[in-house]
Amino acid sequence: MEKKIIVKEVELGLLGKIYIVEAIRGVSITGWHFIKNFFTVVAYTFKLRKHRGIITVYYPEERRVVPSIAPRHRHRLMQREDGSPKCVACMMCESACPCYCIHIEAAESPDPKIQKYPARFEIDLLRCCFCGLCVEACPEDAIRMDSGVLEFSVYDRFSDENYYDKEYLLNSVPHISGHPRHHGWETDKYPGETVEIKEM
Ligand code: SF4
Ligand code: SF4
Repeated sequence: MEKKIIVKEVELGLLGKIYIVEAIRGVSITGWHFIKNFFTVVAYTFKLRKHRGIITVYYPEERRVVPSIAPRHRHRLMQREDGSPKCVACMMCESACPCYCIHIEAAESPDPKIQKYPARFEIDLLRCCFCGLCVEACPEDAIRMDSGVLEFSVYDRFSDENYYDKEYLLNSVPHISGHPRHHGWETDKYPGETVEIKEM
């Protein structure tokens, strides 16, 4: 059955038409919440109450927990035991990428058991939409988005700060600490704490 939506027009009374009255009412509601929250936070600070009572996240001191299923952090490239890239330069990720931000240059591998390796592997993160299709497409589990790095803001969009090359991606570990742009996997941890990530 077709659902009917009835839109009722509200007739404004005289007070409604004088917008100043409604504006004062709005400001008083905001003011009430401000005062209530202020005293709640003061009571919480002095340990007079258990919960802070408001849901504002005090970023960057506090960070929300990001689900660890199918993470969408900055990419990293996986290594074999000998330190060489797991990537076999099949171009699947580059082809799957809807934003054309992966650039790979394949070369013949010196290892006779492997056909190709990426001589260049670059990701332009400014173009990335964090869809994760590159991770899904990879047949070698050579690219992951579990670096734990979630903050990419830069002052200059024309700088190459968010343009990552193979060496950077290969040496990126999922629990780099110390740098404000790198923090743990569980983002409720404070910057600088390291979180152990189990390799699959
Ligand atoms: S996450 Fe999506 S947009 Fe970003 S590099 Fe991978 S495929 Fe491209
Ligand atoms: S990262 Fe995976 S999908 Fe991309 S080129 Fe390397 S092996 Fe292929």
